[in-house]
Amino acid sequence: MNILVVGSIALDSVETPWGSANDSPGGSALYFSSAASFFAPVNVVGVVGTDFDFKAVDFLRQRSVNFDGIDQQEGLTFRWGGRYHMDLNQRDTLFTDLNVFENFNPKIPEFYRNSDLVFLANIDPDLQMQVLRQIPRPKLVILDTMNFWITGKRKSLDEVIGQTDVLILNDEEARMLTDTGNLITAGRRILERGPKFLIIKKGEHGAVLLHDNSYFSAPAYPLEKVVDPTGAGDSFAGGFVGYIAHTGKIDEPTMRRAIIYGSTVASFNVEDFSFRRLVSLNRKEMEARVDDFSRITVY
Ligand code: AMP
Repeated sequence: MNILVVGSIALDSVETPWGSANDSPGGSALYFSSAASFFAPVNVVGVVGTDFDFKAVDFLRQRSVNFDGIDQQEGLTFRWGGRYHMDLNQRDTLFTDLNVFENFNPKIPEFYRNSDLVFLANIDPDLQMQVLRQIPRPKLVILDTMNFWITGKRKSLDEVIGQTDVLILNDEEARMLTDTGNLITAGRRILERGPKFLIIKKGEHGAVLLHDNSYFSAPAYPLEKVVDPTGAGDSFAGGFVGYIAHTGKIDEPTMRRAIIYGSTVASFNVEDFSFRRLVSLNRKEMEARVDDFSRITVY
């Protein structure tokens, strides 16, 4: 199965207690692709400025990531800056310069339109709907969003959620979306709105999967040193969707294993700035960590 991702492409400037990196490639679409491309071909739709250096992401082309859907426009690439605290769950956004991303108008190239799995990264829900209107119904639509859209564009977001098969949220977003404190109740209510599967990420406490009446809980990998948490969510989604594409199966047991692969790739991603660690990562290291996951929960 092949994958379509629509999302941001950025030059990120990040400071953490372990160091900093300036203008390194980032954005949801590139983090997602760096992870998903371990498993399956990825078609990217996004926008960059004339300052974007494609050489920095050449490793992705070698892993069957197609950039033909990236629109290069006159102007500067989207730039985002963030500073993490000692508690890496705390992050201050230092700046968000939308630049060419401000007028992002996703156009899906003809030969991308039959992609099997579609990941709608965290962008304006109106744009997410615009993507879905351009393509025939894919085998699976996976959606990410954030609190900004939950409070600011609720009606549009509800419309996309109604078209979604797998919704990925964090715990705070799940509560916000349902005005509910209890996560299980929140999850059940969300499943009534359209998605067949719901993943709730709980940061260093792992992730849960809700589907019909079943419930699956996965731990997070116990990393002692997190260097840069940026893109953890998108690399999780990349590993998750990539694994499903690789197996070609869309069922609950596959989703459970896909969550372990997503968590594994995300745990490598945060070991270095930008997606540097995903450039050097190989399948053997990945599989060894996947095996560690089962040891963590044996009792
Ligand atoms: P995350 O760590 O999952 O929040 O994702 C971080 C990535 O999101 C960074 O690489 C940023 O470039 C990108 N990003 C930050 N703000 C936005 C935004 N408003 N829209 C789209 N992408 C963004």
